[in-house]
Parts: sequence; structure tokens; C-alpha cells
Amino acid sequence: MLKKPLVLMVCVLMLVLALPLAASSSSAINRLVDMQQIAPNVRLEMRYASRNNFLKQAVYDKSRCLLRAPTAKRLARVQRALEKRQLGLKIFDCYRPLSVQRKMWRIFPNATYVANPRYGSRHNRGAAVDLTLVNRDGQALEMPSDFDDFSKKAHTRYAGASRQAKKHRRWLQTAMRDAGFRSLASEWWHFDDPNWKRYGLLDIRL
Ligand SMILES: [Zn+2]
Repeated sequence: MLKKPLVLMVCVLMLVLALPLAASSSSAINRLVDMQQIAPNVRLEMRYASRNNFLKQAVYDKSRCLLRAPTAKRLARVQRALEKRQLGLKIFDCYRPLSVQRKMWRIFPNATYVANPRYGSRHNRGAAVDLTLVNRDGQALEMPSDFDDFSKKAHTRYAGASRQAKKHRRWLQTAMRDAGFRSLASEWWHFDDPNWKRYGLLDIRL
């Protein structure tokens, strides 16, 4: 007779203990993490923190790569796989605050090149990344175009590049797709987390 209330008490206790756990794990999924803390060997060249971008001016004040925790973990898997081949990733852009998106739109209001801040970019969700491949010394491998080259050379199926550049582009596309990332036909350097729709637009300072 004593067993039933005891079981009930244990169940209630488990439920009470599980609630804060569930809440903290969902907020862990939603939080932005610093990519270099997840994968310290990843190299950064945050172009929008410098003038070396198509806007010709810095729109960030910090050179940091922040991503949603699951996106960062997925990207760390790519880095580990590449390191086995004496290769690595060099990142150009990660999470981009919505206020920065508005700034970019003010400078260059052309929806072909810049996502309209009214709808936001997947970068504003912390679920997209722009990157390239480097060798073990950190030197970028030849690609069909520079980052943010908005000509047809940037297209993932552009056939006019050198054999080397096409091979490197294929390596990058394969490495990212193997980890589940989705590529963009118009930009060989851009990849989306397959679950990007789960994440809302954010405006948190870098
Ligand atoms: Zn991008």
C-alpha cells in the first residue's frame, strides 16, 4: 500500500527536476556560440570587419564568428574532417546582427546582392556561414572567384574556372554537404544550416 504514493512522489520529483533541464537545453540550442571556442583551428578573415569587402567599408566593430550552437558543432565536424586531409576552413562571415543588415541595405539597397532587412538574411539567424578552404599553413586555396564576387564566377556550377579552382570548389562543397549544410547556387562560399528555419532573426551585438 505504501508503494503507490512513493512511486507518485518519485514521478513528481522527476518531473520537477526535468523541467529546468528541458528549458536549459532548448536555450542552449538557441544561443549563439563563438566558433573559435568550438573549433580553435578554424581561421577567421571577417571581411565585414574590414574594408576588404564589396561595400568598401567595415560594418562590424568586432572580428568574431558567432553561430547557433548546433550550426557551430556541425561546422566543427567539417573542420575535423578537413584536418585529416591537411586542410581547414577560413571563415568570412557568420552571424550578422539585423542592425548591420540594415546598415548594409542603406549602403547598397540591391536585393540581388544584399538581403532586404525587412525579411532578413539567414546570417541574421546565426545559421549561415561564408567560408573557403585553406592548406595546413593557412593559405587560401585557389577558388573560381574571390568572396563577394557577384559575377557568374561565383556560381557553384560555373565551368570557366581553372581545373585547380574547380577541384577546390568541389572539395569545399562536398565537405560541407557531407556535414548536412546546404549550398547556394549563386555563391560558392555560402552555406546554410539545414535547420535554419528553426531560428529567428536576432539583433545582438557581436
Ligand atoms: Zn553568406
